Amino acid sequence: MNRRYRKTIIAGNWKMNKTLSETRIFADELKSLMGRPKWCEVVLCVPYVNIQAATRLFKDCRVSIGAENCHYESSGAYTGEVSAEMLKELGVKYVVIGHSERRQYYNETDFTVNKKVHAALEAGLRPIVCVGESLEQRELGVTLELITYQVKCALSRVPAEKMRHVVFAYEPIWAIGTGKTATAQEAGEVCETIRTVIRKLYGARVARAVTVQYGGSMNPKNAQELLAQPDVDGGLIGGASLKPDQFVEIINAANQE
Ligand code: PEP
Repeated sequence: MNRRYRKTIIAGNWKMNKTLSETRIFADELKSLMGRPKWCEVVLCVPYVNIQAATRLFKDCRVSIGAENCHYESSGAYTGEVSAEMLKELGVKYVVIGHSERRQYYNETDFTVNKKVHAALEAGLRPIVCVGESLEQRELGVTLELITYQVKCALSRVPAEKMRHVVFAYEPIWAIGTGKTATAQEAGEVCETIRTVIRKLYGARVARAVTVQYGGSMNPKNAQELLAQPDVDGGLIGGASLKPDQFVEIINAANQE
């Protein structure tokens, strides 16, 4: 973390979990456990159907609400889809773009990721852009080249003045939901690479202000070590964000003075 130049963000990604009533129970528990985080921003990315309730439930504590996806068009004949504009009007602040599960199951490509980044920024949302390699790609030794390519694609035609709204999440696919975590050094190296790509595209001032998270089985045991890396500015957390006690422990790890 480097709080001098950029925000530390701890974001939960609930995926397809929690009904409305479970969301209410979670909110009560989280509020009873969580103080007012001073040094980091807390975000919960929840299923579309829970967004409206979540913005209400978390209004009085410092938790911003995010969505887990959006469409790249602002409206039109796209049955079942939701636009960034629709999310904005509900009070959503962040939107996860290009999560590996969407790349794997729903044909998300680097091209659609770029279009969605533009749609999110246009609507006034902060995209959390996910990039990451598979185990095979890591073993082939192409991780840093692949990440460079993904970051460049995601940012194509994004102007420098919009970059302060963009968040990246380095999420090695082999670490998501598997219990396997990248070592702090591996996470630090890739997050540093993401910043280097941004620096080459936009210059040092822009690059040092961008939040780069790590995601992939982050939990209360490994959070502190991962967050100690200078280029790891928070976490995108799946499993552990479903349990208020674990999520709060990770927030506390990011919130130490
Ligand atoms: C995620 O869904 O982005 C994620 C990192 O999941 P988990 O923490 O469960 O690995």
